[in-house]
This record gives sequence, C-alpha cells and structure tokens, in this order.
Amino acid sequence: MSERKLQGIAASEGIAIGPAFRYQPLHLEVPQRKAASPEEELARFEAASEQAREELATLRDLVLERADEESAAIFDAHAMMLSDPMLQDEVKKRVEAGRNIEQAVSEAVKDIAAQLSAMEDEYFAARALDVQDVGRRVLRILLGLPDTSLDKLSQPSIIVAQDLTPSDTARLDPQLTLGFCTAVGGLTSHTAILARTLGLPAVVGLGVEALDQIPDGATLVLDGSEGVVIVDPRQSTVKRYEKARERQKARLAEVQAVAGEDAYTADGRRVEIGANVGDLDSAREAVQFGAEGIGLLRTEFLYLQDTRPPSEEKQVGVYRAIFEAMEGRPVIVRTLDIGGDKPPSYLEFADELNPFLGWRAIRICLDDLPLFKTQLRAILRAAVGHRVLIMYPMISGLDELRQANAVLDEVRAELESEGLEYAPDVPVGIMVETPAAVALADVLAKECDFFSLGTNDLTQYTLAVDRTNERVAKLFQPLHPAVLRLIKQTIDASHAEGKWTGMCGELAGMKKAIPILVGLGLDEFSMVPRAIPEAKWLIRQLTSDRAAEIAEQALSLGTAAEVEAYMHQILEELGG
Ligand code: PEP
Ligand code: MG
Repeated sequence: MSERKLQGIAASEGIAIGPAFRYQPLHLEVPQRKAASPEEELARFEAASEQAREELATLRDLVLERADEESAAIFDAHAMMLSDPMLQDEVKKRVEAGRNIEQAVSEAVKDIAAQLSAMEDEYFAARALDVQDVGRRVLRILLGLPDTSLDKLSQPSIIVAQDLTPSDTARLDPQLTLGFCTAVGGLTSHTAILARTLGLPAVVGLGVEALDQIPDGATLVLDGSEGVVIVDPRQSTVKRYEKARERQKARLAEVQAVAGEDAYTADGRRVEIGANVGDLDSAREAVQFGAEGIGLLRTEFLYLQDTRPPSEEKQVGVYRAIFEAMEGRPVIVRTLDIGGDKPPSYLEFADELNPFLGWRAIRICLDDLPLFKTQLRAILRAAVGHRVLIMYPMISGLDELRQANAVLDEVRAELESEGLEYAPDVPVGIMVETPAAVALADVLAKECDFFSLGTNDLTQYTLAVDRTNERVAKLFQPLHPAVLRLIKQTIDASHAEGKWTGMCGELAGMKKAIPILVGLGLDEFSMVPRAIPEAKWLIRQLTSDRAAEIAEQALSLGTAAEVEAYMHQILEELGG
C-alpha cells in the first residue's frame, strides 16, 4: 500500500511510530429471544464462562510479561468472580424463571453491582466495576463478538478509535500506548487534555472516513504537533520522523535543565508557573517538571472512577497525599466540575441537547448540597498545614458565588461544632470561563480573592463553538481577538481591586500565547506539567516592556489567523 497522509487536530505534542490498534468498544445488545430449556441456557453459560476464563488467563500472562503481579492479579480476581456462587445463583434463578441466558447474565450482574456499590465501603464499590467487566465479557462471548477491548493490547501500539472517553484514556497502559488518534474530539476535549498530561502524542478529530483508511496492524507515523497521521509510511518518511523525534527529545532535555528555577522575565518580573493536575501521579510529575504549585486540581477525576461519589474520608486521604507531594507549594483545588463531557455514571443525567450549557459544575453542586458539602469538608480538613486555595468552576454571576460561599460558611461552622480539625482561612477564587463572569469581573473581584481564566470554556462560550465537536474545531480559536479582549478585561478588573488573575485553560501552556499573556499582566500560569519547562524558558527570553508591546500589537489585530501569524514571527525572533 502506498503512503497516505491524514490530517486531524494536533491534540498532544510528540511523535509516535508503530502499529495501529483498532479499538472498538462494542455495543452489547441483550436479545429478546424466547428462552430454550433452562438446561440448554445454563449449558451456554457454562461454555461462555469457560471461554472467559481462558481469555482471562491469556490476558493475565500478557500483563505479567509487560507489567507487574499486581496488575496481572486483576484478571485472577475476575476469573474468581466467574465462579462466585452469588453470580451463579443469581443467573440460575433468572434462567429458571424463564429468562434467556443473555438476559439472565445482564440482569444478575446489574443487581450484584448495585448491591456492591450501595455498601458504604470503597473496596466493595470498586468490586462493582469488576463484576460489570466480567459480565460484559461473558455477554460478549454469548453474543459471539470478538474481544476488542484495550486490555488486549499486547505490543506497543498507536490506538485508533472512533472516540476515547476520559476514563478509556486514563486506563491506557503507558508501557504499551505509543499515542492515539480519534475520529472525533477537539483540542480541549478532556480526552485531549489527558493525553497532554500523560505525555502521549495524540491527534483527534480525524473524521470518520479517515479512520476507515487505517487497517488494524498497519504501520503509522503520528505527529501530535502537526495533527498528522501517515498510514503505511515509506522508509524515508519513517527516518525523517525518527530524526525529528530525537530533536524533540534533545530540546526537552535542554529546557528541562533550568525548569527547577522559579520563573522570572529577563527584567526580573516574577511570574508563577503552576501545573494542572488530576491525581497524585501527575502532582509528583508536576514537581519534576518544575511546577511552583498546582494552579488547577481537577477533582472530578476522583468522581469519575467509581460507581458512586468518593466518601469524605477517601477525599481527605487523596487531597492530603497531593498536598504533601507538593511539599509546601500552593494548591488551587477546583470544586467538582462534572457534567458537560464528564458525566459520572451515578448521577441521573437526563439526555441534554446542550450538555455544556446544561447541568454542570457549580450548578450541580448548588443543587446537590450533600455532594458539595462533602467535598468542601474534605478540602478544609485536608488543608490543615498546607497552602490550599479553593476555586469554584463555571461561575456566571454574583449569586452563585455568594451561594457557594454561604455553603462554605455552613461547612466551617459544622466542622467547628463537630470539633474536627480544619483550615479556617482558605482563600477562595473563581474560574472566569463564562463571558458573563468577564462582564461582571469588577463586581466579582470585590467578593473573591483571585480569578483563574478557564480559556477552554471561555473560548467555547464566547465563540459559541462546542469544544468537543470536530466539525467546528477550526472555529475553536483561543487566540481570537474577542477572547484576547476578554482576557485583558478580566486581568485589568482584578488588578483594579488589588486581586490577582491566573489562567488554567490550555492557552496558558501554548508558546504562541505566552508572550501576549505576560504582556497583559497575567500573574500566574497553570498548564500540563510537560509544558512547564518550555514556558519557563520562553518567559526568561522576554522583558516586561517587549511583552507589553507584543500584547498591544496582538490585540490590535482583527482575526485569529493574523494573531497566529504575528506570534509565529515573534517566536522565531525569540528563538523558541
Ligand atoms: C477551562 O475551561 O479552561 C478549564 C481549565 O476547565 P476545564 O477544561 O476542566 O473545563
Ligand atoms: Mg472549564
């Protein structure tokens, strides 16, 4: 086959070269057919369970080769679950009541999982997910479908998928995943953000037709900086990209060398560089990449892992571990931001026509006070002895800020009366990510301690462009002059009140934006850990005066393309 080049959206930098692994999550439909005799139905169950055991044993051996005992043991646990008398009994009961075996398995698994997750115990809640996994495996075999799950990955590969959810991405084995490309998705979809956090090269938004041109096992070159996927590359193409990959590595080593020092401009203006972090591993990584703090702790990943919300105690443990990993550096904890492209399984989400305009973030928290209060209690308790700040997402007006603060006051009073130890004076800020918050920035600044610009959503809401929709990805332009003006307005409004503004949207880590943001007076930048060394290097090349000139010039331009072209020229000048 001759070489073919596919163009998508550059979602996460880096070059991957290797075989394609087509990932197709299966839609398992339970048939409504009339049941045969219970003996026949149960014989099919026995045969399917036997095949499932064989698959699990193979997977176990594969994982043992590439990882450790602990990861491999998951498959032993699954095999044991297959023989568990509870599952056997529940299935048998239903078959005897006249259900076909597929119905019996799917109902039994659903029931057992619900019972397990209802127990007030982390261990059993996690087992609920295992039972569901085992049930899906048996059902898939009963339906005669192949195993295409990510667990089957046995050699380092590039994952090719219609879509990957954030939880699919989080489950990818870093030893075996060279990178990934998807048909759908945009630059700031949470899957793309996770890819950048994990340092996996990724291209999203290739389009469904393009995906059909990538056969399973075909050799691919994936360039996450240019958004390019090359199928069946010529030898000379592979050589060229291997060289480019070496150059990128060398550059990273060069900038990494000074990443441990605090960020200052060439004329000595201090600019804080923090990291966007979703769990303990990325917090540790952030320190290695030179983070001076965490500018955005995305707590929702803790909520998406399980079949129910994490308990207060679990949250205290997780937050405390992250604060400790930061060794005295400040941590901005964003309260729960679920909904949008991150719906957890356990909240009743009606189908929404516009999930990003719907029940999301602070709106959910203010509607579900027990959920919100549990999190605030956990943050305040874990914050004792650490530098912690709280930040509310998706604020669109003063009433939401006041309501959230009233809940925080209640939580403080409750902790006080219960005699529990907590940090009473935690600064509270808001994300500025709706145009409404920008318009009201002068008013909001009076009632909170700081702002952090969420340019992923601010771009989406200002330009009316869905951040996850590849059809409009070209219109998702965070350097659009309209967005730049809102950024300036926010920073100016906070400074007028003696408050500071940071930015934790993806724009903060983009080299083409950093000189403008320094020039606009942004006080703090927060980005995926791997972007920090380049950002610090770039800030060191700038003086405040030069940055202010660059910002003024950029803001005088009329289109995003003009700003991009101008910044391209500036980066060449700065040698970046
Ligand atoms: C943003 O919207 O810019 C942001 C940082 O939050 P998230 O990407 O999690 O919505
Ligand atoms: Mg946001």
